[in-house]
Amino acid sequence: MLTCDVAVVGIGGVGSAAVAHLAKAGASVIGLDRFSPPHTHGSSHGQTRVIRMAYFEHPDYVPLLRQAYRNWHDLEQTTGKQLYFPTGVLQIGPESGEVIAGTLRSAQEHQLAIECYAYEDIPREFPGVVSPEGCVGILEKDAGYLLVADCIQAYLDQATQHGATIKTNCPVQSWSRVGDTFELQTDSEVIQAKQLIVCGGAWAKQLVADLNVPMTILRKHLYWYENDASAYTREASFPVFLIETTQGIYYGFPQFDSQGVKLARHDGGEPIAAAEQLSSSEDAADRQAVENFTARHLPLLSKKLVHREACMYTVTPDHHFLVGTHPEHPGLHFAAGLSGHGFKFASALGEILSDLAITGQTTSPIGFLSIRRFS
Ligand SMILES: Cc1cc2nc3c(=O)[nH]c(=O)nc-3n(C[C@H](O)[C@H](O)[C@H](O)COP(=O)(O)OP(=O)(O)OC[C@H]3O[C@@H](n4cnc5c(N)ncnc54)[C@H](O)[C@@H]3O)c2cc1C
Repeated sequence: MLTCDVAVVGIGGVGSAAVAHLAKAGASVIGLDRFSPPHTHGSSHGQTRVIRMAYFEHPDYVPLLRQAYRNWHDLEQTTGKQLYFPTGVLQIGPESGEVIAGTLRSAQEHQLAIECYAYEDIPREFPGVVSPEGCVGILEKDAGYLLVADCIQAYLDQATQHGATIKTNCPVQSWSRVGDTFELQTDSEVIQAKQLIVCGGAWAKQLVADLNVPMTILRKHLYWYENDASAYTREASFPVFLIETTQGIYYGFPQFDSQGVKLARHDGGEPIAAAEQLSSSEDAADRQAVENFTARHLPLLSKKLVHREACMYTVTPDHHFLVGTHPEHPGLHFAAGLSGHGFKFASALGEILSDLAITGQTTSPIGFLSIRRFS
């Protein structure tokens, strides 16, 4: 039987960061994944992820974002690879809407630098953008995107360099608590660990079903369109953008390579019963909604679709994460239900889970993400 201090089940976005932080701290760690991360079967693929600090979802995330920015920066320093691209993030919406009101609240509570634009200023400041009628804009300059696969690979490389054992294409079939330890059953062996970290993404429903918090898996789509305009490029300093319209919230990235401009719809999504049911087939209604959005608000963009991918959100009832220690198993720590906005936090969540496993506590303010809010 293989033994270790900490086993990490799922080494995608969060788990890759957890194994690296654990290994750097000197723990003997085994990271296991049913696929070979970075891969395209879960929630951490599709080239890029938005990162921003003035967080419209809730101001309580801001301290965790400071930790996340710091840790991504450290990872860049130690690997010598650029992972974060500070293009700025432009958010547009009604003044009293979820996005603008929430962003202003976070910026004010945490004294974050933002620039505000009236409806009339938007086309002048951001050529090629047609704002929804009467909406306003906020630009956060220290925000942008992360290269999602490179981040995971960088953390896995760092974990290996610090002595972690990585087992890929190795699904954990079950885990059980045996006294003060955990036993994990894979297809070929049993692994015994003093502490267990579960970061199963869309498989959390199976892996930590006994948390008893309903999580909905949504199939989501990403689209890349050809860009023959000089607008919408990173070269032309076009930012990442997120626009709240009466037909939903859409976001996208400036073009930086031959694949074009990536776009997606943030709200909506098709519920699926289990992660295994993720299919890459097209959702015609979703694509039409995205193309209606671009025709209205990014009119210079070509209508030629060059690439498409499907991915999964794992959504909790209040769209906030579940992070902490299992109420019935003190040695089991988890990050689950990241609700379609978790990747930017992976570098912080990995460190938090590592601290919980090694010391039983964390100084990071994660109380608002506790599952106790559902009991
Ligand atoms: C289309 C889309 C756009 C998004 N955009 C953003 C964004 O702009 N910004 C942002 O911050 N977030 C964004 N998100 C959300 C973010 O990507 C996710 O919250 C985050 O990547 C989830 O990380 P994870 O580690 O929980 O899951 P994953 O990265 O999917 O990792 C889970 C891992 O667990 C493994 N696993 C599962 N079961 C087992 C088992 N039994 N045994 C072994 N291994 C197992 C899986 O193979 C997988 O590798 C987006 C998500 C999607 C789908």
